[in-house]
Amino acid sequence: MTEETQPKQKPHEVPQRRGVLVRGVVQGVGFRPFIYRLALEEDLAGFIGNDTDGVTIEVEGPESRVDAFLERLRAQAPPLSRIDSIEVREIAATGETGFRIVASEVLGRVSTGIPADAATCADCLRELLDPQDRRFGYPFLNCTNCGPRFTITRQIPYDRPQTSMARFKMCAACQAEYDDPLNRRFHAQPNACWDCGPSVWLVCADGNAISADNPVAATVDRLVSGEIVAIKGVGGFHLSVNAANQAAVMRLRERKHRYGKPLAVMVKDIEAAREACVLTPAEEALLQTSARPIVLARAIEGCGIAEGVAPGVPWLGLFLPYAPLQHLLFADGRLKALVMTSANLSEEPIAIDNDEALARLGAIADAFLMHDREILQRCDDSVAALVDGAPQLIRRARGFVPLGVELPLDSPPLLAVGGHLKNVFALAQGRRVYQSQHLGDLENLTGLEFFKESLDHLMRTFEIEPEAVVHDMHPGYLSTEWAKEWARERGLPLIAVQHHHAHVAGCMAEHGLTGEAIGLALDGTGYGTDGKIWGGEVLIARLDGANPGEFERFAHLEYVPMAGGDAAVKEPWRMALGALVTAGFGVDSAEVETVIAGKEREARILLRMMERELNTPITSSLGRLFDAAAALVLGRRVVDYEAQAAIELEGISLFAEEKSGYAIELEGGNWAKREPMRLDTRELWRELLKDLQAGVGKAQIGARFHAGVAEGFVKAAMAARKATGVGQVAMSGGCLHNHRLAKLLREKLEAEGFRVYLPRKVSPGDGGLSYGQVAVGAARMAGRT
Ligand SMILES: [Zn+2]
Ligand SMILES: [Zn+2]
Ligand SMILES: [Zn+2]
Repeated sequence: MTEETQPKQKPHEVPQRRGVLVRGVVQGVGFRPFIYRLALEEDLAGFIGNDTDGVTIEVEGPESRVDAFLERLRAQAPPLSRIDSIEVREIAATGETGFRIVASEVLGRVSTGIPADAATCADCLRELLDPQDRRFGYPFLNCTNCGPRFTITRQIPYDRPQTSMARFKMCAACQAEYDDPLNRRFHAQPNACWDCGPSVWLVCADGNAISADNPVAATVDRLVSGEIVAIKGVGGFHLSVNAANQAAVMRLRERKHRYGKPLAVMVKDIEAAREACVLTPAEEALLQTSARPIVLARAIEGCGIAEGVAPGVPWLGLFLPYAPLQHLLFADGRLKALVMTSANLSEEPIAIDNDEALARLGAIADAFLMHDREILQRCDDSVAALVDGAPQLIRRARGFVPLGVELPLDSPPLLAVGGHLKNVFALAQGRRVYQSQHLGDLENLTGLEFFKESLDHLMRTFEIEPEAVVHDMHPGYLSTEWAKEWARERGLPLIAVQHHHAHVAGCMAEHGLTGEAIGLALDGTGYGTDGKIWGGEVLIARLDGANPGEFERFAHLEYVPMAGGDAAVKEPWRMALGALVTAGFGVDSAEVETVIAGKEREARILLRMMERELNTPITSSLGRLFDAAAALVLGRRVVDYEAQAAIELEGISLFAEEKSGYAIELEGGNWAKREPMRLDTRELWRELLKDLQAGVGKAQIGARFHAGVAEGFVKAAMAARKATGVGQVAMSGGCLHNHRLAKLLREKLEAEGFRVYLPRKVSPGDGGLSYGQVAVGAARMAGRT
């Protein structure tokens, strides 16, 4: 349905016609109705339609009005759109009258791409809470500016029949909105109301229906009384309890077998967020973006959130409601804050299907709030934080997928399979990289199934047929095994990339750095080219020039034994034992005795294992160095999740003032022979233990440890600059989630005259690995031609 209008022209103005191509995120985000309204307001004739990677517009009318149109197009674009480029060309006027929205087929091209899921907009929220509105209290209202997208779409083009809304036939009122270009719901694919759309219901853990006039209100009753309710959301089920109820929180932890890891908390609105955490304006802005990530922020003591939500750390993972159903849970004011954690056991994929949820979560949840809008793509909540003054994406998922990230060099169609833990794969073509949602750990078949399911979907969505497969060098990763098999079946070449090289290359690519950079890979663990476990590395990496996509190892942390391999990650005291023995403390020394107190028998076995190098890989990991320090300072023996001890050490030194660091010395190395230098930590341990014995406060010791690590790596970067002349530093790796460390490193490096880059749009952790793998793969492929 289009409205015809006559262009009003002043007699002296000759009509002009312009062809306009707009590229970026401009489909499924209300762009066409926006242009339609703009053209009507400026009295212009012409048309708009979606095309392969954007929209095509032609406008005709007096020059001044065409100019005004183009200016407003840039300035007033819809909130969910993102304009990457606008191309304007002059064409001959045709004398056309009226402005039309044309179907995609008219332009002879299919539209591609699916927008990301977006949080309920202010207009929809107003309707949701307005008793006079026909959608009052309707848990699935949405419009062109908000609502689910990626998670409800089976395949392209992004049109209602391709979504899980296909089975709901719009009522006359909804259809009229959908067809009206001047309506906020024009072509809003998930448009729905009480009369025609999905509905919610409540069931017991045994699957039997719980009768309730208002299932949402009945859910709130149960949450208020301390029950655990599994609530179906946008990208999967959440397990939910009242965050103010300590007993309920602990019951959830016990049933989920998750004792230490902080749980995410959803609060009603930004005012409630301010009562829970100390927020900077940048953190408030991040909380309120349409992606609505979980934001890690400093908790306010005594804010009413139960202690069991985030034990041992001074932060909370906070987020705001992003679906109407979630807003309704808070609407009557009885609940202030809800724990909303992904409904899964440990790192398994999040549950999305009603029956699947009952089967997998029946032993955890007391009740289930379900609905019949099928979730087609699993998607966890995204996680972000302000690190060193700017947002850093920690977990890329709902709200960010499937938006692409730029690459500074051209890539052939590539698949990069990522790592092992916190897996995310990436598809690349040209200058764009599409990362999958966070897929969790690829340790079991469920994880691998999710990987395959998601790959299949994104390959279809972006119509990318990989010509090569990039994988981590680790022979034991399930992702490596799978990549080899998949490439063999298709006769595709394989590109193996060292783990920390990928981390560094990712940071370089994100910031458009080509040429050479000094890379600081500060990480947990990754397989090195010498077969040892790396993770505290100074690399010289390059994306173009001679040997593109290659690197040299300039320096690394001293190798220390990890007695028992992975067991040493779960028991950081083993790392402390290995570090002290390597640093020259005798087995009978008082220092080592303190570490092993109460574990003498086990320690004797471990020491024998180290001596004989039995099941004891050696590592240069900074993450493990942090574990060792945390075990010594905090006395933590066992952790419930990776890096817990290190995170607690950062937390305890949150308010400590900056002090001089414990010394790390640079030893050995010969750049001409490409022999790496070693960052020797003997002195660091001596000084730390002395402080510990002298009764210096833990916060103080933590601060000096952070400073020492930063100073050690700055020293190594300076030596690297001296040897190579390279003056830019790209930092990445899981340790860069550490605010204090990231800030110290940046400040100290800048003070020495370096240009310093930190990952922002791509996670510095293993979730960002596949993006870096793509950068290296593309550079190597370019180097071959
Ligand atoms: Zn809306
Ligand atoms: Zn309807
Ligand atoms: Zn890593």
